Amino acid sequence: MSDGRIPRSADPLSRAAAGGAATGGGGLLRRSLDRAPAPDATVLIRGAQLLDPRAGLDQPGDLLVREGEIAEIGAPGSLTAPEGAEIVEAEGLHAFPAFVDPHVHLRTPGREDEEDVETGTRAAAAGGYCAILAMPNTDPVVDSAPILRSLRERARAEARIPTGFTASITVGMGGERLTEMAELADAGAAAFTDDGLPVRSAGVMRHALRYQRLSGCVLALHEEDPTLSGDGVMHEGAVSAVLGLAGIPSVSESTMVARDCELAGYESSRIHVQHVSARRTVEVLARAKAAGVQVTAEASPHHLLLTDDAVRSLDTNFKMNPPLRTEDDRQALVDGLRAGVLDCIATDHAPHSREEKEEPFELAPMGVTGLESAFAAIHTDLVLTGVLDLGLVVERMTAGCEPFGLVVPTLAKGAPANVCLVDLDAVWEVGESGYESRSANCAFDGRRLTGRVRMTVAAGAVAFRERSFAIEAVR
Ligand SMILES: [Zn+2]
Ligand SMILES: [Zn+2]
Repeated sequence: MSDGRIPRSADPLSRAAAGGAATGGGGLLRRSLDRAPAPDATVLIRGAQLLDPRAGLDQPGDLLVREGEIAEIGAPGSLTAPEGAEIVEAEGLHAFPAFVDPHVHLRTPGREDEEDVETGTRAAAAGGYCAILAMPNTDPVVDSAPILRSLRERARAEARIPTGFTASITVGMGGERLTEMAELADAGAAAFTDDGLPVRSAGVMRHALRYQRLSGCVLALHEEDPTLSGDGVMHEGAVSAVLGLAGIPSVSESTMVARDCELAGYESSRIHVQHVSARRTVEVLARAKAAGVQVTAEASPHHLLLTDDAVRSLDTNFKMNPPLRTEDDRQALVDGLRAGVLDCIATDHAPHSREEKEEPFELAPMGVTGLESAFAAIHTDLVLTGVLDLGLVVERMTAGCEPFGLVVPTLAKGAPANVCLVDLDAVWEVGESGYESRSANCAFDGRRLTGRVRMTVAAGAVAFRERSFAIEAVR
């Protein structure tokens, strides 16, 4: 949505408060993404198909990355490599604006056995991402400025790509007392969320929405009514009945989304709905958007591609919250993404240890990884089948920047260099050579997919290069 866009900054890592949000009289907020120092790449990508739907670009060409920026774009063979440049012969490959994932669990602090900043951002870079936002449901919860600052420091030492940290809406994610949102925003919180849990109390939510306006940071919401989802472990429907498993009804999500759209409209605040899973929710969002509520929403690859039918296997890599729902719900998500009711694709990458995921289905933790397979899975099941246009998928995989006021990746001269290079014909098996992530609980583990990220440039630096993918250096 255009209200989330900001002018491009000269500093590829910096960003400002989203337009339209009050900033407490401070003008630009001091919020930015962090990553480890990385040398500016000088790379000439030769003869790739350049595809950037935002820029109206879809043609073969050369693209030169230098000093953190896209220095030149020209016809195939028209650009010469500066001294010291690396040359990528990219004929047959596609160059896209690199992707943005606003919903990642880095499990740090507390569960570094499952993921940390280094492995999580390495997985993101391998998936073609140039920026991610990490969720605060860690141990301890990111609910105070010192914890947030220490994470940002860690990212400045370890992160492969620019990484932002969200802070919790309520202290300890307890759902009662609001965090010091103004102080957290000042310390660089990228957004506020209690992801993993809903904000149960409408009164607390209303209070948080008022602070949203003041802080300028959007509220990202995990929507679920715990009195409806109860101890459910999968979607409530025909399959859960057959399996005899407790179900989570789709109204657990849609009723909370309806409540929070009402509250956001009433308070003129901005919300972002995480991991939409149900047709009813898409319908609620469509109505709220039509009524002018400032709401954006995301869908995950697993909800766009899989249904509760997969749960018949009792494979715990199909256990997540919200759960995989019916084919009718899945189609509504795809239609919602196409129509723009759902703004962006977010993975909800949620690493879990092998031992925990090896528990029986009822006991295993909810959540699956997805950074490394997101594009290929969607390309295979929705683009190659003709359901969605490739350009639309690229746009929706970068659009996670907008609700959060991040720099919009684009293939334009002078823009920060955020580029991913993809071989749309490459066939590979997910997990065949392991994962960059420390965890392996991928919903697409073992699937043969078509389309592979070969290289990712994030904020001017090469963040990922597939091992077999050779680059020649100009001397
Ligand atoms: Zn969640
Ligand atoms: Zn999550």
